[in-house]
Amino acid sequence: MESPFLLGEMTWEEAGEAIRESDFIVQPTGSFEQHGPHLPLLTDSIRAEHLSRMAVEEAWKQGLKIYLLPPLYYGISEHHMRFPGTITLSPETYLKVLEDIGGSLARHGARRLVYMNFHGGNLPILQAAAGTIRAKHGLRVYIVHWTTYARKYIEEHLKPSKTWGHACEHETSMIMLFRPELVRMDRIRRPNVKARAKAPTFVYFDEITDTGGLGDPARSSREAAEIIVSKTTEDIVKLFREILEAEENLYKGGKG
Ligand SMILES: [Zn+2]
Repeated sequence: MESPFLLGEMTWEEAGEAIRESDFIVQPTGSFEQHGPHLPLLTDSIRAEHLSRMAVEEAWKQGLKIYLLPPLYYGISEHHMRFPGTITLSPETYLKVLEDIGGSLARHGARRLVYMNFHGGNLPILQAAAGTIRAKHGLRVYIVHWTTYARKYIEEHLKPSKTWGHACEHETSMIMLFRPELVRMDRIRRPNVKARAKAPTFVYFDEITDTGGLGDPARSSREAAEIIVSKTTEDIVKLFREILEAEENLYKGGKG
């Protein structure tokens, strides 16, 4: 097979063996939400698809038994709902979907599930699912929020403006790399971003930005994206190895 790590391209016999022997099953998580006047609704899910595949492919080349699921294209996007086109799952639905996927994999003998996440709004529910899936099904779940591992490289190579984080120079650079035809270069506008309260709260995005985006998308660079992606991919493969090492230490003697 050309891409032996794609679970969805296997037969049931192949998948049965692959899941039982796997080190990791990877579930990419994205969103379907507004990304300013110049990027598509699928921006996070396009990043999820390409960047998860790159990490899994590299890990596979280095000998890890790792298998990739298709991305979850919908996530938690209530905070973007005042912009047309955005589709959100409710937290209850999202948790159930995650639990059902995790439960199915556990019934087939999986031991470890990784959420490779590309949308900050999903994080609290991914964290909740990691707990309920472990409790109900015994499956260990890890959350790898891609941007956390990319942050230092983004800062070094893109020199982003202070408010970067959504439909900004980072995300625009990524879509320029993976799907350049989808970036409306002539629609790029610098948003007017308002400061929010420091205490955690819930705000709708139209309350803090006029375009729907943050940062300064005019600073985007495909070349910078290429460097950021290759360094971050390398670090994430290292992280997969560290997870296995940490487990050896945690669960030696068969506990857990
Ligand atoms: Zn995004």
